Amino acid sequence: MIIPALLKKKIVLIPGCILLLITIIIISLEYLSNSCPDAKTREIPDCHALINTYIADGDIYKTLEELLSENPIDEDLETVINTRIFEASREELRGVNGVACSHYGFVDRNLPKAAKLYVKTHEALHLLGSGGETKTNYQAAAKHPFGMLETVFYSVYVGFKDQPLQNYPCLMAQNWVIFKTYFLHFRTQT
Ligand SMILES: [Zn+2]
Repeated sequence: MIIPALLKKKIVLIPGCILLLITIIIISLEYLSNSCPDAKTREIPDCHALINTYIADGDIYKTLEELLSENPIDEDLETVINTRIFEASREELRGVNGVACSHYGFVDRNLPKAAKLYVKTHEALHLLGSGGETKTNYQAAAKHPFGMLETVFYSVYVGFKDQPLQNYPCLMAQNWVIFKTYFLHFRTQT
């Protein structure tokens, strides 16, 4: 088959333009994430307060080392999700979808259904010893791909909701940093 010259040109031009556009977007996001003051830092939820609020028998951890004990628990995923993951308000979670605190996990109770199951699975995997956000993210996504997508859209929606337009560039940068942490194996400073 002979490809006409004009079509040949298009075949090269279209992917070339798309690639250039993606490069420009990534460079802009990188620039923004370096110039926006809070783009690279996220608030960490107060594990102490969450455990004291939601764990009935007051499994109190006195020191930070105790709180961050990395000994994984020896239970199956289903049991962990059903017995060790609690739903909390987004305010208590300081704006994140979920957090693993010692032997308990907490997720935003307002997450949509599939997203909530995905975040619960993500935190449960941490409790079972899965370290690293990217790896944990993909493990949970393999079980709940739709939940992962819903979580991404919900997080972006909640992040931008009620924010004035002038905050959008820095919010985009913040989302870019989060995306890199969860999907591209970059480390986020916290
Ligand atoms: Zn995580």
